[in-house]
Amino acid sequence: MTEPITWTCTGCALLCEDIQVFIKDNRVEKVEHACLKGKARVYRCKHTAISTVDQDEVDVNTAISQAAKILEKAKNPLLYGWSNSTSEAQVAGIELAQTLGACIDSTSSFCQGITINEIMNGSVPSCTLEDVREKADVVIYWGADPMSSHPRHLSKYSYFPRGELRQRGYEEDRTAICIDITESRTAKICKGMFFSIPPGGDAEFMRALMDGLAGRVPKLSYDFDVKRILELAAVLKKAEFGVIFVGLGLVYSIKEEFDLISEFMSTLNKFSNFFLIPMAGHFNMRGFNHNLHEKTGFIHRVAFTKNGPVPGVEYSVVEQLKHGADAVMVVGSDPLASLPLSITRRLKDIPLILVDPCSNLTSRVADVTIPCGASGIEVGGTAVRLDGRKMDISPLIRGNGLSDEMVVRRIMEEVS
Ligand code: SF4
Repeated sequence: MTEPITWTCTGCALLCEDIQVFIKDNRVEKVEHACLKGKARVYRCKHTAISTVDQDEVDVNTAISQAAKILEKAKNPLLYGWSNSTSEAQVAGIELAQTLGACIDSTSSFCQGITINEIMNGSVPSCTLEDVREKADVVIYWGADPMSSHPRHLSKYSYFPRGELRQRGYEEDRTAICIDITESRTAKICKGMFFSIPPGGDAEFMRALMDGLAGRVPKLSYDFDVKRILELAAVLKKAEFGVIFVGLGLVYSIKEEFDLISEFMSTLNKFSNFFLIPMAGHFNMRGFNHNLHEKTGFIHRVAFTKNGPVPGVEYSVVEQLKHGADAVMVVGSDPLASLPLSITRRLKDIPLILVDPCSNLTSRVADVTIPCGASGIEVGGTAVRLDGRKMDISPLIRGNGLSDEMVVRRIMEEVS
């Protein structure tokens, strides 16, 4: 057997950098240390798409030229996706949006973008996963189930490892708490510290917890033992280094009053020392937010206008797909599979370009499909981990096509 190479897994935004991969003749023979999700990414994520125009197979140059023509002709194009691309491809996409005067948005728009924005504008404190491993004594998984979504989260960083300040490990040195509507796999590990709340009950629970922290009797409109809230408040007050991992369950539940998160964090930090980390899913979702912020000062939902970049909900993928955009280029995403039909229905009425390594549901209706190498498998670069740390991504095998960055740059050459 050949010597293994050390690889950073792009199966999720945890970006585990300790994966050992054995490769022979440009084929993966064995993968060690990765979870099943990471192994599936290595073995199953391959460049399988073909170049098409109007669903007929063409060579890739013809597909790129047709994509450029569509985007050039459009008055209000939308460039969307990007969370499964390297930062280098995302930067190329932002430059293309600027060249076209287009709107650009990513999957973070209906995912963790709202949480990442709070962190990047300094409203809530955050920390690295290494800080969590070395220092955290209280971890809360709120609306998050990392045992399913980020399978090595607990073992590599947040619960099981012994850390510099947590030598006695999870048995004595860490308390794991889960607040969720369902007893998830993560909730089962938290045993007596699972707090089961009703769907949509997060904001009320958060306010009750703030009451508990302030020494008031918590009030809830749903049935819940307030003694347990007071016990939880006491645990949080005693924490030396606490971390809240925010999942989509919490984001979706309180998105209409998201300011509550910063209010809760500042209340908590009057008594304790807590940080917040968003549980981003796609491997480089956070990278898009950082890269767009660097160029424009905004993290997503941006229109490039004559007066410069402008942010706004009206430039989100949801609003643009409903009634704004007159052409769409999707990179590394499958909106037909991931967005509600009420939003994607309009895709059949406007020109749609798809750049993706794989054939998917969206490619079945796309006017132009352009295959690209799979980022993190056939294409290297950089990405941003869910806690904001920049990571190098190396390719595992040689692909035989263009990377998504190259596709975007070729389109840019044709429209410039
Ligand atoms: S936890 Fe995520 S990054 Fe780590 S090996 Fe599993 S899929 Fe890959």
